[in-house]
Amino acid sequence: MNKSSGFTLREKNGVLYYTIPSFDRTNLVKHMFTTRVKGVSEFPFASLNLGINREDKIENVKENFKIVCNVLDVSIDSLVFSNQVHGTNIKIVDDEDVCEEILSLHPEEGVDGLLTNKRDLTLCTFYADCVPIFFLDYKKKVIGLAHAGWRGTVGKIAGKMIDKMIETYDCNTDNILVGIGPSIGPCCYEVDEIVYEKFNNNFTNLEKLLISNDKGKWFLDLWAANMLILKCKGILDKNITVSRLCTSCNNDKFYSYRKENGETGRLAAIIHLI
Ligand SMILES: [Zn+2]
Repeated sequence: MNKSSGFTLREKNGVLYYTIPSFDRTNLVKHMFTTRVKGVSEFPFASLNLGINREDKIENVKENFKIVCNVLDVSIDSLVFSNQVHGTNIKIVDDEDVCEEILSLHPEEGVDGLLTNKRDLTLCTFYADCVPIFFLDYKKKVIGLAHAGWRGTVGKIAGKMIDKMIETYDCNTDNILVGIGPSIGPCCYEVDEIVYEKFNNNFTNLEKLLISNDKGKWFLDLWAANMLILKCKGILDKNITVSRLCTSCNNDKFYSYRKENGETGRLAAIIHLI
């Protein structure tokens, strides 16, 4: 995809990462979507792998977390992790959810969405092709992250995040900014009939989300699907930023589960209220 990105590419100490311009302008958060550049892990995890339950050496993953926390200027002791299962369970996190050891970090139950209004926490979720979605209510000062692959998108986790923000923190949809980060794009994400049917059962405007190809399969646009979900919930068009960066096309910067046949590392979406 050659369209220009809605996210901003930044560099610090050689580490490349992306931020969302609308989030930057609030001066309320430190946030990033990581790349694979300038970490210490070796092939096939080269090099800034943040995935914990992979085959990579844990010392390398820990060192990579140090590098990332240093770039973002947050304490490594403030990290709160998801436990992603391609579900739609959202956890409101508090000080007791901070992981004490990088190895022993996950909540026991499946959690694909994190929300908090606490200032001292750093939320962190993991990716290799699935869609990272960032949330910020700049009036109520609430932050969130959601992991949306095709299952999470069919389950409408992005909409459930908005519901939970309203229900828990009395947020107003007019004040919620959303960033849809790098993931496998409609250029590369070929899906079969099983996925097609799931979307058919859960979405209208299907022709905008799935483009049929000459192999009897479809290209799925997860960015458009999540945009649609957010707009249906009342999020303003001007408040949604889409990175339009495909992880498979840009395999030099990102890990791609598809492109690398599952043998790869994990990127992270990270956000912290200042
Ligand atoms: Zn692509």
